[in-house]
Amino acid sequence: MILITGGAGYIGSHTVLNFLKDNYDVLVFDNLETGHIETIEELKKAGNVTFEKGDLRNIEDIDRVFEKYHIETVIHFAAFALVGESVVEPAKYYRNNTVGTLNLLDTMVKHNVKSIIFSSTCATYGEPQYTPIDEKHPQNPINPYGASKLMVERIMSDYDAAYGLKSVKLRYFNVAGCDTQGRVGEWHEPETHLIPNILKSVFGEGKTFKIFGDDYQTPDGTCIRDYVNVEDLAQAHKLAYLWLKKENRSEVFNLGTENGNSVKEVFDACEKVLNQKINVEVAPRRPGDPATLYANANKAKSELHWNPERTLEHSIDTAYKFEQKLQKLK
Ligand code: UDP
Repeated sequence: MILITGGAGYIGSHTVLNFLKDNYDVLVFDNLETGHIETIEELKKAGNVTFEKGDLRNIEDIDRVFEKYHIETVIHFAAFALVGESVVEPAKYYRNNTVGTLNLLDTMVKHNVKSIIFSSTCATYGEPQYTPIDEKHPQNPINPYGASKLMVERIMSDYDAAYGLKSVKLRYFNVAGCDTQGRVGEWHEPETHLIPNILKSVFGEGKTFKIFGDDYQTPDGTCIRDYVNVEDLAQAHKLAYLWLKKENRSEVFNLGTENGNSVKEVFDACEKVLNQKINVEVAPRRPGDPATLYANANKAKSELHWNPERTLEHSIDTAYKFEQKLQKLK
């Protein structure tokens, strides 16, 4: 079976659904610290899912799972992913994201499981020296979150050289949208991301939506990001898994749409999709936000045959429907 760590979380749960669609047996390992048991219940309705609660920081938890099941490959999402929090609580990020992954890799080596797909990030690049960003761009992360992931990339390369453990590192840009059928979605507490924050302000939750800075060196003054749909991203994991099975070598791929959208453009698209005016105000810049980030994803397109096709409007529409579902739980 396929082990998906962090399968109760945002990108992990969409990837579980993608594998279930093709009738794979999936084992989800999650500590439910940021993931949700309700998500696991939804996943169980969609196919053959086994859930094991555990924490990568406890190597016994993960070893127990490898003892109990026959695991063919690992898709590893479990991580903390808030840039701001990582600056004030670096230990949490290094312990969980870096040491936790080291525990996972050591357990894989011990049990002779030799392939992993890893959820990395464009935050490993740091301040861009050029855009679009390709995989050769220098990696100088500017926060502990990016550093915790870059260390894992490095460890994985060394584990390939020493133990033959093959890894595909996927560096995501900004992820957006939810399952088209509304079964799972973006459910962070607290929520910090752009699209859910705009949508929450519609329900009066975040009150007025705040644009963090409109004096950047961009055409409309707001930051530009590359918003890739979460179902397209999940599909990239399936393609990476198949690619690794065939090629049996380690690689790294950027995953983004190669299109940049400014905060104002995303906001305007939300008003259009929802067909309503949304309250907005301009607030100071958020520390650590580069002006422009977008991907060169040629490598994923040509090697993995990945073809991200869902639009920003589709991401907003599905995110809105999921937000309505979350509002009902209150
Ligand atoms: N942003 C914003 N208001 C918000 C949340 C985000 O203006 O309430 C901006 C943020 O400054 C950045 C972009 O939206 O320029 C994307 O931020 P997000 O937190 O979604 O993702 P990140 O780029 O940090 O991974």
